Amino acid sequence: MRRQQKEERRRVEQERRRLEEERRLLEEERRLLREEQRLFNENRKQQDPIQITETKECSKCLKDLNVKNFSNITYQCGHDVYICRKCIGEHIAHAVNKGSIKILCLENNCHEVLNESDVRKFSNNEIFERHIYDKFCIIGNSYF
Ligand SMILES: [Zn+2]
Ligand SMILES: [Zn+2]
Repeated sequence: MRRQQKEERRRVEQERRRLEEERRLLEEERRLLREEQRLFNENRKQQDPIQITETKECSKCLKDLNVKNFSNITYQCGHDVYICRKCIGEHIAHAVNKGSIKILCLENNCHEVLNESDVRKFSNNEIFERHIYDKFCIIGNSYF
């Protein structure tokens, strides 16, 4: 009877050790999987350079440009911007040169009116001052 108990205890102890070893191996495997996943992600990052995700084609000049070259045309615009800052600047300059004081967003179907700070954002001093001057003259001549 005592021998049997002893035998039994030894068996349990063996089993416990086996389970412990198994758990250790599982943990090791999990660690390796995580490491593999990390290397995989790193590799993928290297394969598609950031450039690809950070450029956009301007729908006007058709140039592939860094997303930094795009910004909301007016404060109220809720749409995505597909026209680069330079093209918007040209659109504004063209409108100002025509003597127009009401400059509209040129993205498809938007037609929001650009306010002064929108015009400022895309124009050089000369264009901006002319815009302000034209606006002042027209309002000064009791246009409203
Ligand atoms: Zn453009
Ligand atoms: Zn717009």
